[in-house]
Amino acid sequence: MSLPPLVEPAAELTVDEVRRYSRHLIIPDVGMAGQKRLKNAKVLCVGAGGLGSPALLYLAAAGVGTLGVIDFDVVDESNLQRQVIHGQSDVGRPKAESAAASVREINPLIDVVVHNEILTTENVMEIFAQYDLIVDGTDNFATRYMVNDAAVLLGKPYVWGSIYRFDGQASVFWAEHGPCYRCLYPEPPPPGMVPSCAEGGVLGVLCASIGSIQVNEAIKLLTGIGEPLVGRLMIYDALEMNYRSVKVRKDPECVLCGKNPTVTQLLEDYEAFCGAVSAEAQEAVSGSTITATELKSWQDRGENIYVVDVREPNEYEIVSIPGAVLIPKGEFLNGSALEKLPQDKKIVLHCKSGVRSAECLAIVKNAGFSDAVHVGGGVLSWIKTIDPSLPTY
Ligand SMILES: [Zn+2]
Repeated sequence: MSLPPLVEPAAELTVDEVRRYSRHLIIPDVGMAGQKRLKNAKVLCVGAGGLGSPALLYLAAAGVGTLGVIDFDVVDESNLQRQVIHGQSDVGRPKAESAAASVREINPLIDVVVHNEILTTENVMEIFAQYDLIVDGTDNFATRYMVNDAAVLLGKPYVWGSIYRFDGQASVFWAEHGPCYRCLYPEPPPPGMVPSCAEGGVLGVLCASIGSIQVNEAIKLLTGIGEPLVGRLMIYDALEMNYRSVKVRKDPECVLCGKNPTVTQLLEDYEAFCGAVSAEAQEAVSGSTITATELKSWQDRGENIYVVDVREPNEYEIVSIPGAVLIPKGEFLNGSALEKLPQDKKIVLHCKSGVRSAECLAIVKNAGFSDAVHVGGGVLSWIKTIDPSLPTY
């Protein structure tokens, strides 16, 4: 699917600009018109960290006319292994300022806007409204969901990326033309389930691989060339050295961009949204949680069980536990799932990481399936302990 250019071309390029961008200008697909579009473009990079560093450097070099950078953090020595926009002498300096200085050194012909502040529900709409496109280089789920929600509510496209150890992912979320982040990840993982780069580490150069994909997609969207990564999730494995892309469909039931959205404004508290497991669910799982290894041995022994995957169809298509039947969580909430469950088998629920299946377990137990269990850690734990060849997302 190709899309029309996101921005109109600027009136002209100066002599200096023609000289600087000549290697772009002689590419037929970019040419004068494409470079003028870049000149007119306003791009915001959220975060001047691992992904933001290469992204900002290349967006600046490419001649994106207005480049915003928002970050509240200061440069730490442990950042320098991957955040190549900052240098030794920047340690202790606000990242937004340090990044802006590097950008100005690379390309004095563009405007840099420094937002040396935390992106919050108070300022995100106003800041995003000033830009055509957002590049998301955030490293935490609360900010990611907020970036997604704000972008969808404003009708803006954004290029998302994530990195962990040797694995990276990227996609373009633009609700007008495809899925949003919530279509792919309807719910955040439970706190502590998915380690951050600070906890689990990241190969420094991985940031360049994913950050450059994000810039590549940004340039394509701004100039209207190529096939943007809308509706596709790019999965990069640096150890195997392969890229795979999987289709991601818009979820018609998405609470934000679906047919009957229930999220029509920003949430009040994204931290709380990303940290919540209900008391009912906590009670349901105590004594009724099995490990992926136990599930595998039950399957191998031919136990009389019925394995139900409560994730969304998108997620099921990417990876699933063999033999699991898909019944999305929404069907448990509205009660229609219960009649699909056999009475004469032990019900085993799982989701991605164990939060949604915990909630469903509470419903199933209340409905009389008292010996039902769920798989702690979900399909992620299955992949980790039973079949590491399967893709994670
Ligand atoms: Zn959506």
